[in-house]
Amino acid sequence: MQKEKVISFIRSLFKTDTFIPLHAPYFGGNEKQYLNACIDSTYVSSVGQFVNTFENSMSEYTGAKHTVAVVNGTSAIHTALKIVGVQEGDEVITQALTFVATANAISYCNAKPVFIDVDKDTMGLSPVALEAFLNEYTVVKNGVCINTLTNKRIKACLPMHTFGFPCRIIEICKICDTFGIPVIEDAAEALGSELNGKKLGTFGTMGVFSFNGNKIITAGGGGALVTNNTMYAEKAKHLTTTGKKEHPYEFFHDELAYNYRMPNINAALLCAQLEQLDGFLANKRILAQSYDQFFNELGIKVRTESDESKVNYWLICLELKDREERDHYLKFLNENQIMTRPIWQLMYKLPMYKDCFRDQQKNAQFLEDRIINIPSSYRKNG
Ligand SMILES: *Cc1c(COP(=O)(O)O)cnc(C)c1O
Repeated sequence: MQKEKVISFIRSLFKTDTFIPLHAPYFGGNEKQYLNACIDSTYVSSVGQFVNTFENSMSEYTGAKHTVAVVNGTSAIHTALKIVGVQEGDEVITQALTFVATANAISYCNAKPVFIDVDKDTMGLSPVALEAFLNEYTVVKNGVCINTLTNKRIKACLPMHTFGFPCRIIEICKICDTFGIPVIEDAAEALGSELNGKKLGTFGTMGVFSFNGNKIITAGGGGALVTNNTMYAEKAKHLTTTGKKEHPYEFFHDELAYNYRMPNINAALLCAQLEQLDGFLANKRILAQSYDQFFNELGIKVRTESDESKVNYWLICLELKDREERDHYLKFLNENQIMTRPIWQLMYKLPMYKDCFRDQQKNAQFLEDRIINIPSSYRKNG
Protein backbone atom coordinates (compact mmCIF):
# COMPACT_ATOMS: atom_id res chain seq x y z
CA MET A 1 0.00 0.00 0.00
CA GLN A 2 1.25 3.49 -0.90
CA LYS A 3 0.68 4.83 2.62
CA GLU A 4 2.91 2.18 4.21
CA LYS A 5 5.54 2.73 1.53
CA VAL A 6 5.70 6.46 2.25
CA ILE A 7 5.92 5.95 6.00
CA SER A 8 8.69 3.38 5.80
CA PHE A 9 10.63 5.48 3.27
CA ILE A 10 10.60 8.57 5.50
CA ARG A 11 11.51 6.43 8.52
CA SER A 12 14.43 4.96 6.58
CA LEU A 13 15.71 8.47 5.78
CA PHE A 14 15.78 9.51 9.43
CA LYS A 15 16.62 6.04 10.79
CA THR A 16 14.15 6.15 13.68
CA ASP A 17 10.97 4.46 14.87
CA THR A 18 9.98 7.40 17.06
CA PHE A 19 8.63 10.88 16.37
CA ILE A 20 10.17 12.67 13.38
CA PRO A 21 9.99 16.48 13.67
CA LEU A 22 9.56 18.79 10.71
CA HIS A 23 12.80 20.65 11.28
CA ALA A 24 15.05 20.13 14.29
CA PRO A 25 18.08 22.33 14.93
CA TYR A 26 21.48 20.68 14.76
CA PHE A 27 24.37 21.68 17.02
CA GLY A 28 27.46 19.93 15.72
CA GLY A 29 30.07 22.68 15.74
CA ASN A 30 31.52 25.26 18.09
CA GLU A 31 28.23 26.04 19.87
CA LYS A 32 29.29 24.96 23.36
CA GLN A 33 32.74 26.50 23.05
CA TYR A 34 31.34 29.90 22.04
CA LEU A 35 28.56 29.79 24.63
CA ASN A 36 31.07 29.03 27.35
CA ALA A 37 33.33 31.82 26.16
CA CYS A 38 30.35 34.18 26.16
CA ILE A 39 29.34 33.23 29.72
CA ASP A 40 32.92 33.47 30.95
CA SER A 41 33.17 36.96 29.49
CA THR A 42 29.99 38.01 31.39
CA TYR A 43 28.92 39.86 28.22
CA VAL A 44 25.75 37.89 27.60
CA SER A 45 23.44 40.80 26.81
CA SER A 46 23.21 43.66 24.34
CA VAL A 47 26.96 44.34 24.07
CA GLY A 48 29.64 41.85 23.09
CA GLN A 49 32.05 40.51 20.54
CA PHE A 50 29.82 37.72 19.21
CA VAL A 51 27.27 40.20 17.93
CA ASN A 52 29.96 42.05 15.98
CA THR A 53 31.52 38.83 14.74
CA PHE A 54 28.17 37.54 13.60
CA GLU A 55 27.31 40.77 11.80
CA ASN A 56 30.61 40.69 9.92
CA SER A 57 30.34 37.01 9.02
CA MET A 58 26.77 37.47 7.88
CA SER A 59 27.75 40.38 5.61
CA GLU A 60 30.54 38.27 4.17
CA TYR A 61 28.24 35.29 3.68
CA THR A 62 25.41 37.15 1.98
CA GLY A 63 27.57 39.66 0.13
CA ALA A 64 25.63 42.56 1.67
CA LYS A 65 27.65 45.54 2.86
CA HIS A 66 26.01 45.71 6.28
CA THR A 67 24.22 43.45 8.75
CA VAL A 68 22.31 44.48 11.85
CA ALA A 69 21.49 41.62 14.24
CA VAL A 70 18.15 41.84 16.05
CA VAL A 71 15.97 39.83 18.43
CA ASN A 72 13.87 38.09 15.79
CA GLY A 73 12.81 38.16 12.16
CA THR A 74 9.58 40.01 12.86
CA SER A 75 11.45 42.91 14.49
CA ALA A 76 13.82 42.99 11.51
CA ILE A 77 10.86 43.45 9.15
CA HIS A 78 9.29 46.06 11.44
CA THR A 79 12.57 47.99 11.53
CA ALA A 80 13.07 47.82 7.76
CA LEU A 81 9.54 49.12 7.15
CA LYS A 82 10.16 52.01 9.58
CA ILE A 83 13.38 52.89 7.78
CA VAL A 84 11.71 53.26 4.38
CA GLY A 85 9.16 55.51 6.08
CA VAL A 86 6.07 53.33 6.48
CA GLN A 87 3.71 55.23 8.75
CA GLU A 88 0.20 55.10 10.11
CA GLY A 89 -2.32 54.98 7.28
CA ASP A 90 0.15 53.78 4.64
CA GLU A 91 -0.14 50.58 2.65
CA VAL A 92 2.42 47.86 2.02
CA ILE A 93 2.16 45.31 -0.77
CA THR A 94 2.79 41.72 0.20
CA GLN A 95 1.51 38.21 -0.44
CA ALA A 96 -1.35 36.46 1.40
CA LEU A 97 0.55 33.18 1.19
CA THR A 98 3.05 33.77 3.98
CA PHE A 99 3.70 33.28 7.66
CA VAL A 100 1.68 35.73 9.75
CA ALA A 101 4.79 37.65 10.87
CA THR A 102 5.10 39.30 7.44
CA ALA A 103 1.65 40.87 7.73
CA ASN A 104 1.99 41.56 11.46
CA ALA A 105 5.16 43.63 10.97
CA ILE A 106 3.15 45.83 8.57
CA SER A 107 0.40 46.20 11.19
CA TYR A 108 2.95 47.16 13.86
CA CYS A 109 3.58 50.29 11.73
CA ASN A 110 -0.19 50.96 11.80
CA ALA A 111 -0.12 50.36 8.06
CA LYS A 112 -2.27 47.97 6.04
CA PRO A 113 -1.15 45.05 3.90
CA VAL A 114 -2.35 44.83 0.30
CA PHE A 115 -2.40 41.19 -0.73
CA ILE A 116 -1.22 40.43 -4.27
CA ASP A 117 -1.20 36.91 -5.70
CA VAL A 118 1.84 34.64 -5.91
CA ASP A 119 3.28 32.63 -8.80
CA LYS A 120 2.43 28.93 -8.78
CA ASP A 121 5.98 27.85 -9.44
CA THR A 122 7.89 30.11 -7.04
CA MET A 123 5.17 30.40 -4.33
CA GLY A 124 6.32 34.03 -4.01
CA LEU A 125 4.84 37.38 -5.07
CA SER A 126 3.91 37.41 -8.76
CA PRO A 127 5.42 40.27 -10.77
CA VAL A 128 2.61 39.90 -13.31
CA ALA A 129 -0.08 40.29 -10.65
CA LEU A 130 1.90 43.11 -9.04
CA GLU A 131 2.20 45.07 -12.26
CA ALA A 132 -1.47 44.50 -13.08
CA PHE A 133 -2.49 45.89 -9.70
CA LEU A 134 -0.17 48.89 -9.89
CA ASN A 135 -1.23 49.77 -13.43
CA GLU A 136 -4.92 49.46 -12.71
CA TYR A 137 -5.23 51.04 -9.29
CA THR A 138 -2.33 53.39 -8.62
CA VAL A 139 -0.87 56.70 -9.73
CA VAL A 140 2.53 58.16 -8.93
CA LYS A 141 2.34 61.71 -7.55
CA ASN A 142 5.56 63.57 -6.65
CA GLY A 143 7.41 60.28 -6.65
CA VAL A 144 4.94 58.64 -4.24
CA CYS A 145 2.71 55.78 -5.32
CA ILE A 146 -0.95 56.36 -4.38
CA ASN A 147 -3.63 53.68 -4.32
CA THR A 148 -6.59 55.33 -6.07
CA LEU A 149 -9.05 52.95 -4.38
CA THR A 150 -8.13 54.18 -0.90
CA ASN A 151 -6.15 57.37 -1.49
CA LYS A 152 -3.39 55.89 0.68
CA ARG A 153 0.31 55.88 -0.02
CA ILE A 154 1.93 52.58 -0.98
CA LYS A 155 5.19 52.92 0.87
CA ALA A 156 6.83 49.51 0.46
CA CYS A 157 6.65 46.12 -1.18
CA LEU A 158 7.44 43.08 0.94
CA PRO A 159 7.77 39.90 -1.12
CA MET A 160 8.63 36.64 0.66
CA HIS A 161 10.83 33.75 -0.51
CA THR A 162 8.68 30.78 0.47
CA PHE A 163 10.55 27.88 2.10
CA GLY A 164 13.78 29.20 0.56
CA PHE A 165 12.52 29.17 -3.05
CA PRO A 166 13.33 32.49 -4.72
CA CYS A 167 10.40 34.59 -5.88
CA ARG A 168 10.86 36.59 -9.12
CA ILE A 169 12.68 39.24 -7.14
CA ILE A 170 14.52 40.84 -10.08
CA GLU A 171 11.28 41.55 -11.95
CA ILE A 172 9.60 42.70 -8.73
CA CYS A 173 12.41 45.19 -7.99
CA LYS A 174 12.24 46.54 -11.55
CA ILE A 175 8.49 47.11 -11.42
CA CYS A 176 8.59 48.67 -7.96
CA ASP A 177 11.40 50.95 -9.08
CA THR A 178 9.24 52.48 -11.81
CA PHE A 179 6.51 53.15 -9.24
CA GLY A 180 8.91 54.55 -6.62
CA ILE A 181 8.23 51.73 -4.16
CA PRO A 182 11.13 50.38 -2.08
CA VAL A 183 11.40 46.59 -1.89
CA ILE A 184 12.16 44.79 1.36
CA GLU A 185 12.76 41.06 1.00
CA ASP A 186 11.31 38.80 3.65
CA ALA A 187 14.11 36.26 3.34
CA ALA A 188 13.37 34.82 6.81
CA GLU A 189 13.25 31.32 5.32
CA ALA A 190 15.82 31.77 2.60
CA LEU A 191 19.27 32.08 4.14
CA GLY A 192 21.75 30.49 1.72
CA SER A 193 19.40 30.44 -1.27
CA GLU A 194 20.55 32.15 -4.46
CA LEU A 195 19.23 33.52 -7.72
CA ASN A 196 21.72 33.85 -10.58
CA GLY A 197 24.54 33.34 -8.10
CA LYS A 198 23.41 36.19 -5.82
CA LYS A 199 22.17 35.50 -2.30
CA LEU A 200 18.51 36.14 -1.55
CA GLY A 201 18.00 39.08 0.76
CA THR A 202 20.43 41.24 -1.23
CA PHE A 203 18.17 42.18 -4.15
CA GLY A 204 15.91 44.69 -2.41
CA THR A 205 16.88 47.86 -0.54
CA MET A 206 16.93 45.67 2.57
CA GLY A 207 16.57 41.97 3.29
CA VAL A 208 15.57 40.31 6.54
CA PHE A 209 16.33 36.89 8.03
CA SER A 210 15.06 34.88 10.99
CA PHE A 211 17.04 32.63 13.31
CA ASN A 212 14.11 31.19 15.20
CA GLY A 213 14.49 27.62 16.45
CA ASN A 214 12.86 26.10 13.38
CA LYS A 215 14.84 28.03 10.75
CA ILE A 216 17.85 26.70 8.84
CA ILE A 217 20.26 28.08 11.45
CA THR A 218 19.17 29.28 14.86
CA ALA A 219 20.17 31.72 17.58
CA GLY A 220 17.46 30.34 19.86
CA GLY A 221 15.62 33.41 18.68
CA GLY A 222 17.06 36.07 16.45
CA GLY A 223 16.93 37.98 13.23
CA ALA A 224 19.02 40.13 10.95
CA LEU A 225 18.60 42.96 8.53
CA VAL A 226 21.05 43.23 5.62
CA THR A 227 21.55 46.16 3.27
CA ASN A 228 24.08 47.83 0.97
CA ASN A 229 22.82 51.24 2.07
CA THR A 230 25.10 52.61 4.79
CA MET A 231 22.55 55.19 5.94
CA TYR A 232 19.89 52.50 6.31
CA ALA A 233 22.29 50.30 8.27
CA GLU A 234 23.08 53.14 10.67
CA LYS A 235 19.41 53.91 11.02
CA ALA A 236 18.66 50.24 11.69
CA LYS A 237 21.27 50.08 14.41
CA HIS A 238 19.88 53.28 15.95
CA LEU A 239 16.23 52.19 15.84
CA THR A 240 17.02 48.78 17.32
CA THR A 241 19.12 50.15 20.20
CA THR A 242 16.55 52.53 21.78
CA GLY A 243 17.63 55.48 19.63
CA LYS A 244 20.46 56.28 22.01
CA LYS A 245 23.05 58.80 20.94
CA GLU A 246 26.54 57.44 21.48
CA HIS A 247 28.08 58.87 24.62
CA PRO A 248 30.37 57.38 27.28
CA TYR A 249 27.74 57.84 30.02
CA GLU A 250 24.88 60.21 29.17
CA PHE A 251 21.43 58.94 28.26
CA PHE A 252 20.05 60.81 25.32
CA HIS A 253 17.53 59.18 23.01
CA ASP A 254 16.62 61.29 20.00
CA GLU A 255 13.48 59.47 18.84
CA LEU A 256 11.00 56.76 19.81
CA ALA A 257 12.91 53.56 19.11
CA TYR A 258 13.06 49.90 20.14
CA ASN A 259 14.99 47.43 22.23
CA TYR A 260 15.51 44.99 19.36
CA ARG A 261 19.25 44.29 19.67
CA MET A 262 20.29 40.63 19.53
CA PRO A 263 21.84 39.53 22.86
CA ASN A 264 25.47 38.44 22.69
CA ILE A 265 24.63 34.97 24.03
CA ASN A 266 22.28 34.35 21.14
CA ALA A 267 24.92 35.64 18.75
CA ALA A 268 27.44 33.19 20.24
CA LEU A 269 25.19 30.28 19.33
CA LEU A 270 24.52 31.80 15.93
CA CYS A 271 28.22 32.28 15.09
CA ALA A 272 28.73 28.54 15.51
CA GLN A 273 25.62 27.83 13.43
CA LEU A 274 26.65 30.07 10.56
CA GLU A 275 29.98 28.23 10.31
CA GLN A 276 28.01 25.05 9.56
CA LEU A 277 25.51 26.51 7.12
CA ASP A 278 27.15 25.33 3.91
CA GLY A 279 27.31 21.82 5.34
CA PHE A 280 23.62 22.00 6.25
CA LEU A 281 22.78 23.11 2.71
CA ALA A 282 24.66 20.22 1.09
CA ASN A 283 23.09 17.73 3.50
CA LYS A 284 19.55 18.99 2.89
CA ARG A 285 20.07 19.04 -0.87
CA ILE A 286 20.76 15.29 -0.76
CA LEU A 287 17.63 14.79 1.35
CA ALA A 288 15.57 16.72 -1.20
CA GLN A 289 17.00 14.60 -4.02
CA SER A 290 16.12 11.39 -2.16
CA TYR A 291 12.54 12.59 -1.63
CA ASP A 292 12.31 13.70 -5.26
CA GLN A 293 13.37 10.32 -6.57
CA PHE A 294 11.03 8.40 -4.28
CA PHE A 295 7.92 10.54 -4.78
CA ASN A 296 8.44 10.83 -8.54
CA GLU A 297 7.93 7.11 -8.77
CA LEU A 298 4.61 7.54 -6.96
CA GLY A 299 3.63 10.33 -9.36
CA ILE A 300 3.84 12.99 -6.64
CA LYS A 301 5.61 16.29 -7.25
CA VAL A 302 8.45 17.41 -4.99
CA ARG A 303 9.29 21.10 -5.41
CA THR A 304 12.88 21.45 -6.66
CA GLU A 305 15.02 24.38 -7.76
CA SER A 306 15.06 25.89 -11.24
CA ASP A 307 18.18 26.22 -13.41
CA GLU A 308 18.90 29.80 -12.36
CA SER A 309 18.38 29.26 -8.65
CA LYS A 310 19.93 27.48 -5.72
CA VAL A 311 17.45 26.58 -2.99
CA ASN A 312 18.37 26.03 0.67
CA TYR A 313 15.70 23.30 1.05
CA TRP A 314 14.82 24.68 4.45
CA LEU A 315 11.46 22.89 4.34
CA ILE A 316 10.91 20.38 1.58
CA CYS A 317 7.51 20.61 -0.15
CA LEU A 318 5.21 18.11 -1.75
CA GLU A 319 2.60 19.32 -4.20
CA LEU A 320 -0.39 17.01 -3.92
CA LYS A 321 -3.21 16.55 -6.39
CA ASP A 322 -5.92 18.41 -4.50
CA ARG A 323 -7.16 19.39 -1.04
CA GLU A 324 -8.45 15.88 -0.41
CA GLU A 325 -5.10 14.23 -1.07
CA ARG A 326 -3.43 16.95 1.00
CA ASP A 327 -5.70 16.23 3.96
CA HIS A 328 -5.10 12.52 3.58
CA TYR A 329 -1.31 12.97 3.72
CA LEU A 330 -1.47 15.36 6.67
CA LYS A 331 -3.63 12.91 8.60
CA PHE A 332 -1.81 9.66 8.04
CA LEU A 333 1.70 11.07 8.39
CA ASN A 334 0.94 12.99 11.58
CA GLU A 335 -0.93 9.98 13.00
CA ASN A 336 2.21 7.96 12.38
CA GLN A 337 4.47 10.39 14.28
CA ILE A 338 5.89 11.90 11.10
CA MET A 339 5.43 15.64 11.46
CA THR A 340 3.88 17.14 8.37
CA ARG A 341 2.42 20.62 7.99
CA PRO A 342 0.21 22.32 5.44
CA ILE A 343 1.35 25.61 3.94
CA TRP A 344 -0.21 28.60 5.75
CA GLN A 345 -3.83 29.64 5.54
CA LEU A 346 -3.99 32.74 3.38
CA MET A 347 -3.66 35.91 5.45
CA TYR A 348 -7.07 37.36 4.51
CA LYS A 349 -8.71 34.32 6.11
CA LEU A 350 -7.39 35.43 9.50
CA PRO A 351 -9.66 37.76 11.51
CA MET A 352 -7.11 40.62 11.61
CA TYR A 353 -6.71 40.72 7.84
CA LYS A 354 -10.15 39.82 6.56
CA ASP A 355 -10.91 43.34 5.36
CA CYS A 356 -7.63 44.00 3.57
CA PHE A 357 -7.52 44.50 -0.18
CA ARG A 358 -6.69 41.39 -2.17
CA ASP A 359 -6.65 40.49 -5.84
CA GLN A 360 -7.89 37.17 -7.22
CA GLN A 361 -5.46 34.97 -5.24
CA LYS A 362 -5.98 32.07 -7.63
CA ASN A 363 -2.44 30.74 -7.34
CA ALA A 364 -2.27 31.32 -3.60
CA GLN A 365 -5.44 29.28 -3.16
CA PHE A 366 -4.12 26.59 -5.51
CA LEU A 367 -1.02 26.26 -3.34
CA GLU A 368 -2.92 26.41 -0.04
CA ASP A 369 -4.92 23.42 -1.29
CA ARG A 370 -1.91 21.33 -2.28
CA ILE A 371 1.41 22.13 -0.59
CA ILE A 372 2.63 20.29 2.48
CA ASN A 373 6.01 20.23 4.21
CA ILE A 374 7.62 16.93 5.11
CA PRO A 375 10.44 16.28 7.59
CA SER A 376 13.44 18.30 6.40
CA SER A 377 16.00 18.27 9.21
CA TYR A 378 19.73 17.98 8.76
CA ARG A 379 20.67 14.28 9.01
CA LYS A 380 23.79 13.48 10.96
CA ASN A 381 24.61 10.48 8.83
CA GLY A 382 22.88 11.80 5.73
C1 LIG B 1 10.01 32.88 10.59
C2 LIG B 1 9.45 33.92 9.72
C3 LIG B 1 9.37 35.26 10.10
C4 LIG B 1 9.59 35.77 11.48
O1 LIG B 1 10.67 35.38 12.14
P1 LIG B 1 10.70 35.35 13.73
O2 LIG B 1 12.15 35.23 13.99
O3 LIG B 1 9.93 34.14 14.14
O4 LIG B 1 10.12 36.61 14.26
C5 LIG B 1 8.94 36.19 9.18
N1 LIG B 1 8.57 35.84 7.95
C6 LIG B 1 8.59 34.56 7.55
C7 LIG B 1 8.17 34.23 6.18
C8 LIG B 1 9.01 33.55 8.42
O5 LIG B 1 9.00 32.28 8.01
